[in-house]
Amino acid sequence: MGVTVDRLLPSDEAYDLLDLTRELAGRELAARVDDYEARGEFPREVLRTLGRSGLLGLPYPEADGGAGQPYEVYLQVLEILAGHWLAVAEAVSVHTLACYPVFARGSDAQRKLLPDMLGGELLGAYCLSEPQGGSDAAHLTTRAARDREDWVVTGTKAWITHAGQADFYNVFCRTGGDGAAGISCLLADADTPGMLPQKPERTMGLRSSAPAQIVFDGARVHGDRLVGAEGGGFAIAMEALDAGRLGIAACAVGLAQAAVDYAAAYAREREQFGRPIAAFQGLGFLLADMATQVSAARALLLSAARLKDAGRPFSVEAAKAKLFATDAAMKVTTDAVQVLGGYGFVRDHPVERWFREAKVLQIVEGTNQIQRLVISRSLTRG
Ligand SMILES: Cc1cc2nc3c(=O)[nH]c(=O)nc-3n(C[C@H](O)[C@H](O)[C@H](O)COP(=O)(O)OP(=O)(O)OC[C@H]3O[C@@H](n4cnc5c(N)ncnc54)[C@H](O)[C@@H]3O)c2cc1C
Repeated sequence: MGVTVDRLLPSDEAYDLLDLTRELAGRELAARVDDYEARGEFPREVLRTLGRSGLLGLPYPEADGGAGQPYEVYLQVLEILAGHWLAVAEAVSVHTLACYPVFARGSDAQRKLLPDMLGGELLGAYCLSEPQGGSDAAHLTTRAARDREDWVVTGTKAWITHAGQADFYNVFCRTGGDGAAGISCLLADADTPGMLPQKPERTMGLRSSAPAQIVFDGARVHGDRLVGAEGGGFAIAMEALDAGRLGIAACAVGLAQAAVDYAAAYAREREQFGRPIAAFQGLGFLLADMATQVSAARALLLSAARLKDAGRPFSVEAAKAKLFATDAAMKVTTDAVQVLGGYGFVRDHPVERWFREAKVLQIVEGTNQIQRLVISRSLTRG
């Protein structure tokens, strides 16, 4: 899947990396996805395999244990993974996001964890959302108070990907007054006393990586696990999300590309009125629009990624890419179901799963309304 795309990559190494990803995805992901999705089991071993193959720290410097790849290459790896198994691609994207706070603001002692984080030995989680608010993250209420050597954390985080599976958790909590300036970032280990992951949510899709709440019942995190400055947590959370949104956009492009490829192949085979349905202009034009949406989404994504790679401001372009690519994925996967007719509505074909999975991409890492807010603010505030 995704093989129909003619890609221009920045190096020979990048072509090799994408070949390796296709080979790994064909071998490790394609054969497992249906079974794991049906059972709702998290594929921890698959992520270990990806880690050992160097795919869990791609955009971080080699000196820290990463692969030193440009963001545009990392995103195309994600795209290929998403075309085979969205939950795995999203897990790679969330893990990459979860490594950012320690990479960008970690103390020397915290940064010693980076090789294991970026090598995939340690899986990460990013805990920002809460039951009473996801979009308005600056008003989060989980509180951390100092008690001698420790921070004592009380509150509930919601929708946390890798809850109960991760080895380290970035916990954004209130250590000061109201608003963004009162928020800090703590790095909690999986065995933190009083940190209690709950049962996974019963989700519409991504069942092999369903998020869960985490209750912090006086959880004790050692004082040396404050990441960056006290009160600096919200800035870290937003910086991480800027780049993370590109990851979600890449997942959307991969999912949509898989849907186009599958629908086109089906339309070439399926006959009605004595001809392949692809020969009917009504269907051919539908496929043409689907393919165009995917190409446009990929172009927007890569142009935002190249700004990031060049060290230029990219957050508004990342918001546009996330908005467009995830809306395109929803439209394209809906149309793919239509191309298959009744067969699109049953589980014998993957388009049914892709249609359910596309929805979540319009919600996570800032809903598409929040992306519009980011874009419109850049226009109205000058
Ligand atoms: C599968 C999954 C995985 C997730 N993983 C994580 C994770 O790992 N870590 C994490 O921290 N969070 C995670 N989330 C949470 C996700 O980021 C939030 O669901 C999202 O930010 C929206 O928050 P909410 O659900 O509280 O909706 P709300 O914020 O209550 O929004 C409800 C509706 O109101 C709209 N809205 C809100 N404010 C505005 C506004 N100002 N203008 C216009 N419309 C507005 C929203 O767009 C939405 O349509 C995950 C969610 C899901 C479903």
